[in-house]
Amino acid sequence: MLPTDLIDRAYRGDCTKEDAALLATAPPTELFRLADELRVEAVGDVVSYIPNRNINFTNRCIGTCRFCAFKDPDGYRLGISEILTKVDEAVSLGATEICIQGGLLPDMHLTNYCEILESVKSDFPAIHLHAYSPMEVWYAAGGGRGEGGGGSEDRDCAGAGVRDTLAALKKAGLDTMPGTAAEILVDDVRTKICPDKLNTAQWIEVVGAAHSLGIRTTATIMYGHIETVRDRIDHLFLIRNLQDETHGFTEFVPLSFMPYNNELGEGMLAGGNYGNTGIDDLRMHALARIVLHNRIPNIQASWVKLGKKLAQYALHCGANDLGGTLMEEKISKSAGSTSGEYMPPSEFDWIIENAGRIPVVRDTIYSH
Ligand code: SF4
Repeated sequence: MLPTDLIDRAYRGDCTKEDAALLATAPPTELFRLADELRVEAVGDVVSYIPNRNINFTNRCIGTCRFCAFKDPDGYRLGISEILTKVDEAVSLGATEICIQGGLLPDMHLTNYCEILESVKSDFPAIHLHAYSPMEVWYAAGGGRGEGGGGSEDRDCAGAGVRDTLAALKKAGLDTMPGTAAEILVDDVRTKICPDKLNTAQWIEVVGAAHSLGIRTTATIMYGHIETVRDRIDHLFLIRNLQDETHGFTEFVPLSFMPYNNELGEGMLAGGNYGNTGIDDLRMHALARIVLHNRIPNIQASWVKLGKKLAQYALHCGANDLGGTLMEEKISKSAGSTSGEYMPPSEFDWIIENAGRIPVVRDTIYSH
């Protein structure tokens, strides 16, 4: 049985790191029940999803992230007309959001990032542009352009640089940003898994500046590699504290680490570690619901990462959103996901109704 004072704090949105550590080792059914009760209090029985499309404009990248299975030195780079064709296809299928991200290219500068947004908005003014990770924004601001994709010595973007970059992107049509590139927001972990990526303080700087400019973001965690339970908890509380300051996060998305086709995962597999089990995944979603209660009402279960069946069960462990229809999903697929690249709205409805919930189509910022 979970202590009653812990449950009281959880309902108030006041649970402590010590509470979270206890919850992380609690019997799964007790953890899931508490998360499910808090989900009911936060959002009721509605489960949402969004008709959207991912467009990865390139899979080439100078980055050195050890968990990445996406980058390909012989890969592609889409031109503006190819991007517009993909947007047109998505719009004709009812997409309301286009999510644009890509690898880091030496000849990709702020003007190029802006050009993509301006071109899409010019032809499709009603589409919501959810684009560019905090790492891409940092890169567009001039950070991470040294040998190997960066290094702390060349990543010292002044705050004004990040802010001006975000303002330019917003002017070009950026509506919201994915809160990716977060991985684990603990620098001891980041230096081991993505040493050339922006560090924790820089991620906070970019996301905090975005929020201050009215650019809302998601928040993510990539879990299930070398991080400890304490690292996951520190990450959740960092997101919680930032939300208290900015109120800019729309949702929290746990991203289960996929160990295939990447250096970090290959080391794990060689040691007999196959990554997250289903119980690990459900625990992460439940813990996020409890720690973020009264701050971030939406916890997404990614059907691409979890598979459709486990994502459905996550709806009973704190999650209330199943993400997007996607149409095109390359990043998880390259790391071993077999869940597919597109799920039609009718299948979302079927999964959600068979979980005993009420399906609803949402927009990016959960305004409906
Ligand atoms: S995770 Fe992103 S920045 Fe890192 S290597 Fe892969 S594509 Fe590049």
